[in-house]
This record gives sequence, C-alpha cells and structure tokens, in this order.
Amino acid sequence: MKLKKYLPLHFYLSFIKPKKMAYIINDSCIACGSCIDECPVEAITEGDIYKIDPETCTDCGSCADACPTEAIHPA
Ligand code: SF4
Ligand code: SF4
Repeated sequence: MKLKKYLPLHFYLSFIKPKKMAYIINDSCIACGSCIDECPVEAITEGDIYKIDPETCTDCGSCADACPTEAIHPA
C-alpha cells in the first residue's frame, strides 16, 4: 500500500486561528455604567475605566450603542 506523502491543505489550515475581534473602551469612558447592562455575555467589568474581556466579547455592538461618550469601538 502506498502512503500519502502530504496531508490535505485543510488539515494545515485548521491550525491557523482567525484573529479574535472584540470591542474596546477608550479613555473617553466616564464610568456611567450604561454599557454593562447591555452586554448579553457579561464581558464588561467595572472600574475607573470600564474594560471588555476580548475572549468573552461576541462583537454584538450593543454596548457601543449605549455609550454616551462614544468610548466603545471595535478593536
Ligand atoms: S460588543 Fe456585545 S458582547 Fe462585546 S462587550 Fe459589547 S455588548 Fe458585550
Ligand atoms: S457606557 Fe461608555 S462611558 Fe459609560 S461606562 Fe460604558 S464605556 Fe464608560
């Protein structure tokens, strides 16, 4: 029996992970808390400046729509 020398291309491509996209919060944040209630996956944490966990964020954009200072935008 003859063995294949190379595996199919999709086997190698399966190791390449696409870049994780997420929304981020910039210095315009005034810590009003409006965004945290809008996030369906609880990706936003409170603080002097709120932060979004890029691993949890699903890029839905709901928080950006709720922000009064336009501090939230795609990374
Ligand atoms: S974009 Fe959506 S999932 Fe990501 S932090 Fe904002 S509300 Fe949450
Ligand atoms: S809605 Fe905007 S200003 Fe308010 S806490 Fe979230 S990021 Fe900060």
